Amino acid sequence: MKRLGVIGWPVAHSLSPAIQNAALAELGLDEWHYQKLPVPPNLFDEVVRALPELDFVGVNVTLPHKRAALALATTASERAQAIGAANTLTFSGDDIAADNTDALGMIAAIGEVKQFESALVLGAGGSARAAVWALLDADLPVRIWNRTFQRAVKLCDELGGEAVIDPQPTDLIVNCTSVGLDPTENELEQLPLDPGELARARCVVDLVYRSGETELIAAARAAGARCVDGREMLIRQGAISFETWTGREAPVEVMRDAIL
Ligand code: NAP
Repeated sequence: MKRLGVIGWPVAHSLSPAIQNAALAELGLDEWHYQKLPVPPNLFDEVVRALPELDFVGVNVTLPHKRAALALATTASERAQAIGAANTLTFSGDDIAADNTDALGMIAAIGEVKQFESALVLGAGGSARAAVWALLDADLPVRIWNRTFQRAVKLCDELGGEAVIDPQPTDLIVNCTSVGLDPTENELEQLPLDPGELARARCVVDLVYRSGETELIAAARAAGARCVDGREMLIRQGAISFETWTGREAPVEVMRDAIL
């Protein structure tokens, strides 16, 4: 048996097992299995170090462990180091290799990034770091707005981009805040976006996913923007992890069908 999984706390809501097991089945990789691994922060290092002995080839890492995953790894990709967080670990002998596929997954979900003039990233947490790194790597000017402005300034000091308090319209908007996770809150009021700005955007990406559309995606769709929701990014970052572990091309359509 070759084992894969997703480590988080909590992790019950994760769609990754459905996506990854559908891909494994599609390619006839019957000896592989992907499972949820609910692990609290105080046990993270101990559990991860035990996984290779239990036939694990690799794991995805989600909240709140992404920084701890990078710290624990014996080797790390340049992008994981720059972003300061890892969402994919791969075990090989004594080596624990860390990567961050959130960045490339977001770019793959957006498609032709170079068609945009500039990007506005909302948020300054872990996923915003991956988004800012990826967009700057694609040579796009990036502005960053965050509820706590000083965090945006710190992110810009470390990665680049321009921290803004009152963002001007851009043609690509990426929501990396957790606004939208709770469908009862007044989502748009918590973000610095007015309908005019959404009409100016050609593409709006919301990393948040939940059952039903977020208010941001619904408003962007109504304004005529192309919309990319968090599920598509989840599929794309998962596809890159899948290819790292199995060495096979990920069946993206099958992965999408598994959760849409
Ligand atoms: P994080 O590190 O905890 O950062 C949370 C961010 O949200 C911070 O910038 C925070 O601002 C902001 N925020 C929280 N509540 C807010 C509010 N009421 N109004 C305005 N801003 C608010 O989380 P993360 O890892 O970056 O993840 C953010 C979201 O992306 C989560 O919903 C996560 O599930 C999602 N995500 C999705 C994928 C995917 O594959 N689809 C991948 C990664 C993450 P402050 O600094 O002011 O607190």
